[in-house]
Amino acid sequence: MSQSIDTLCVHAGYKPGKGEPRQIPVIQSTTFRYETSDQMGRLFDLEESGYFYTRLQNPTCDHVAARIAALEGGVAAMLTSSGQAANLFACLNICQAGDHIISANNIYGGTFNLLGTTLTKLGIGVTFVDAKAPDAEIEAAFRPETKLVFGETISNPGVEVLDIERFANIAHRHGVPLVIDNTFATPIGCRPFEFGADIVTHSTTKYIDGHGTTVGGVLVDSGRFDWDAHADKFPGLCTPDPSYHGITYTEKFGKLAFITKATAQLMRDLGSTQSPQNAFYIGLGLQTLHLRYPRHCASALKVATWLSKHPRVAWIRYPGLPGDPYHALAQKYLPKGTSGVMAFALDGGREVDNRFMDALRLVTIETHVADCYTCILHPASHTHRQLTDEQLRAAGIAPDLMRLSIGLEDPDDLVADLDQAINSAYA
Ligand SMILES: *Cc1c(COP(=O)(O)O)cnc(C)c1O
Repeated sequence: MSQSIDTLCVHAGYKPGKGEPRQIPVIQSTTFRYETSDQMGRLFDLEESGYFYTRLQNPTCDHVAARIAALEGGVAAMLTSSGQAANLFACLNICQAGDHIISANNIYGGTFNLLGTTLTKLGIGVTFVDAKAPDAEIEAAFRPETKLVFGETISNPGVEVLDIERFANIAHRHGVPLVIDNTFATPIGCRPFEFGADIVTHSTTKYIDGHGTTVGGVLVDSGRFDWDAHADKFPGLCTPDPSYHGITYTEKFGKLAFITKATAQLMRDLGSTQSPQNAFYIGLGLQTLHLRYPRHCASALKVATWLSKHPRVAWIRYPGLPGDPYHALAQKYLPKGTSGVMAFALDGGREVDNRFMDALRLVTIETHVADCYTCILHPASHTHRQLTDEQLRAAGIAPDLMRLSIGLEDPDDLVADLDQAINSAYA
C-alpha cells in the first residue's frame, strides 16, 4: 500500500518492535559489540550489514536518512554533517581529478565557491551556465570529461525555479546524471526524481529541521541512473575499488551502489558524519514538515502580495506571484507553493534598505533562512560585503536585493512590522 507523503513524514524509516521506543531513539554510541571475530570480519567485507562504527553508520542517522529517502521517492540516503558536505559528497562520489561539472550559475554562494574554488583546486573543473540559456548553449558546455549537471530547484538567494525536466533531458542526452539541491522546495514542495533528476541533496539545516537547531545535510539516490551503461565515465562506481577489497559497487550493490560507495568510501575517508543527536532533531522536524511547509508558502504569498502593491517597493521576486517570471515553472514544479523565501528592494537603494532593516522589530537580521523565524539579509551588506556593486551584479545579485524568509508567525503581524519599518525608513 503506498502511503501519502504526509503519513511518510510521520512514520517512514522507523517501525518499532514490541516494547521498543515509539520515537526514533538516539543511539549515542561510537561503536557496536559483536560475539565473534568472524561476525566482525564479515561486516568489514560488506558481506553482512550491521553497525560497527558511527563514522560509517549509526541507527539513528539511518532511520532519519531512510525517512528522507522515502519522502523523495529514492532508494537510499545518507546524512552528512552539513548541506555543504552533501553537495561535496555528491560531486566526489561521481567525479575525480580531471573530470568536469556543469552547473547552473544561480546556485547558493557556498556551493558556487565549493565548485568554483575548492573542487577546481582539486582538479575537478566547472562551467557555470545560465539556467535560462537555450539547450544548444548549455550543451555546448559539455566535454568528454563532463560527469554531472548540477542545479537548485529554487535558487538561493535569487528564488529562480529550475526547469528540472529540461536539465535532466540535457544531462541524459550526454550520459551523465542530474544532481538537484532541493533545499528550498523540500520533498513536500517538489520531488525532483519525478522530473528525471537522478541524485537529490538537501541542506537539512533549513526547512527539514525547521527550528534553527541543527546544521546538517543529506544525499539521496533515485537508484535510476544506469552507471554501467556509461561505465567508461564512472570508473569509481563501475570498476573494482582497491581500497575496499576490489568491490565493484554497481555489480555488488545494484541500485544501492551510489549510497554504498558514498558511505563505505567517502564517509570512511572524509568523516563528515552527522551526529545521532542532531539526526534526532532532523527526524523530529520531518514529522511536521508537511504541516509547516504549506504554512510557510501561504504566509509568504500573503506578504509578497502585500509588498508587491506597496508604493515604496522597487521590485519583488517571488515565484508564487502571478506576475513573476518564474510563475509558470513554479506551477509545474511547485504546485503546493514556492517556499517562504523572496527577494525584494525598496526605492532608494542600499541606504534605505539599511534604515528599513534597523527599524524591524519582529523580523530579525540573520544569515539563516527557511526556518520558523522570519528573517532578513542584505547580501551586499552581509554575506557578500567584500564584493563591489559590479561584482555583485556579475554574481546575479542586485546590490539592493534583500532576502526575506517568512517563518511561522501570523503573516498579519509580519506585514505590520514590515509596514512600520518601511515608514520609518523614509521618515
Ligand atoms: C544553506 C544551503 C546550503 C549549505 O548548507 P549548510 O547546511 O549551511 O552547509 C546548500 N544549498 C542551499 C540551497 C542552501 O540554502
